[in-house]
Amino acid sequence: MKIKTGDTVVVISGNNKDKKGKVLSVIPKENRVVVENVNMLTKHEKPQGPNKPGGIVKMEGPINISKVMYFCEKCNKGTRVGFKVENGSKVRVCKKCGVELK
Ligand SMILES: [Zn+2]
Repeated sequence: MKIKTGDTVVVISGNNKDKKGKVLSVIPKENRVVVENVNMLTKHEKPQGPNKPGGIVKMEGPINISKVMYFCEKCNKGTRVGFKVENGSKVRVCKKCGVELK
């Protein structure tokens, strides 16, 4: 996967266009990602005993991975991710500026 948990991405299409956030999780099977503060869903939870009073819970909904781009700090915008092999291991790089992505 080009996008990993913890990456900063920018949304490039849809209702959340231009929103930037951290990837909270990646769902490779569905080609979807969950991004911090993007695609917020409101969920009404029923009370489940004295310790869980219920109420309105806000949480991020997954969005298609094709709607996000890796946000390169150096380029200060969304860029494509490439790969290069260094010392026998594959590392991710920004296709624009070539900086190695952690
Ligand atoms: Zn870059």
